[in-house]
Amino acid sequence: MKKVARRSQGPKPVLLANIGQLLTLRAASTRSGPRRGPDLKELGIVHDAALLCIGGNIVSAGTTKDALRDPWLKRNRKNVVEIDCARKVVLPGFVDSHTHPVFLSPRLVDFEKRIEGASYEQIGAAGGGIRSSLEGVRNGSKPALTAKVLRVLRDMAAHGTTTVEAKSGYGLTLESELKSLEAIRDAARQWPGTVIPTLLGAHVVPGEFQSCSQKYVETVCIEMIPQAAKRKLARFVDVFCDKGAFTAQETEQIFAAAEANGLNVRAHMGQLSETRLAPFLRFKPASFDHMDHVSEDDIVQLAKADTVATLVPGANYFLGLKDYPNARRLIDSGVPVALATDYNPGTSPTISMPMAMSLACTHMKMSPAEAISAATINGAWALRIADRKGSIEPGKDADLAIFNVQDYREIPYWFGVNRCTQSVLNGEVTSPE
Ligand SMILES: [Zn+2]
Repeated sequence: MKKVARRSQGPKPVLLANIGQLLTLRAASTRSGPRRGPDLKELGIVHDAALLCIGGNIVSAGTTKDALRDPWLKRNRKNVVEIDCARKVVLPGFVDSHTHPVFLSPRLVDFEKRIEGASYEQIGAAGGGIRSSLEGVRNGSKPALTAKVLRVLRDMAAHGTTTVEAKSGYGLTLESELKSLEAIRDAARQWPGTVIPTLLGAHVVPGEFQSCSQKYVETVCIEMIPQAAKRKLARFVDVFCDKGAFTAQETEQIFAAAEANGLNVRAHMGQLSETRLAPFLRFKPASFDHMDHVSEDDIVQLAKADTVATLVPGANYFLGLKDYPNARRLIDSGVPVALATDYNPGTSPTISMPMAMSLACTHMKMSPAEAISAATINGAWALRIADRKGSIEPGKDADLAIFNVQDYREIPYWFGVNRCTQSVLNGEVTSPE
């Protein structure tokens, strides 16, 4: 009786039937940890499949024949929300493990300046870049920021994303960073998907600390991190470690403060210049993101670690760069690779994981199968939630994306259009298109 009562409180049971290709992303090998090398190509595809979710969890996934034999389903079919997938492709909802959604205005001056030939650093020096988003967030009300984040989350779900890592980082004062994290929390409460909040107080050194960056690092370490941890507003601490942002030494200092406050760490690494990564591995970072510049030595070290290399080709695309991170070298060396949008107003204003996957295929020579693993199960590893997310297996959260295609390779193939017709977020079904 108790079981039934608990079930009736959550989302209604859902049966997805008549699935053409179900990409389960079940591990093909017994190796644990993030997917590497050839394992990235294993999608665990079931043809002519069905999938049952009860109480927000996946209960069974397999061939239609097997799924319909489920004794619970036989007894309760009338009370189940049934979706006829009409031979479409169903896969785990995307895990977008790197986004910056807390800002209010697009950066159209940066966009035009860059088209005229200005570099990332020149735009920053001219008052554009990250610092130009600060005013809106510092002056913006929490409800306005919350509404903005919620709009983004809903847009993401419409494109198949069911889990989102969301960073602060456009306030850069104690008050406005906490306000940003509260906006993320408040938006997450109104969205059926899953949000993992990250404190990115160390995004850049704000103008008022320009001549004394160490003082700003102390603000991050002594004020922002302890408060965010105490109020449970962040799961991770992130640092933009690069020229024009924070040094390796400052990054270590911030990582140490995060560790002391019980928060996990991740960092933007190697976007503009190379930083030695091996010394940071003692902090067990969940992910190093960007990775345009990385040494052979560090690749060898990363192949032995569970730190994921999160690639964000949307930024390279939008900056009009000719070079992209060397995904092939990373994958072929055994480094676990994830894909994310890096949604942000300056360098990657896209919420589309299929777009990131398309760029991964065309510009980084990842196969469609590798791109799908990187956008789902390895995104979950990059957020340390692979026990609940990123694959379709009994017991895991019911996070699914339904794509109006016959073959999974069409997802990165049809770039620039949205082929996602419906998503399921922790068992809640979005309305069909
Ligand atoms: Zn970023």
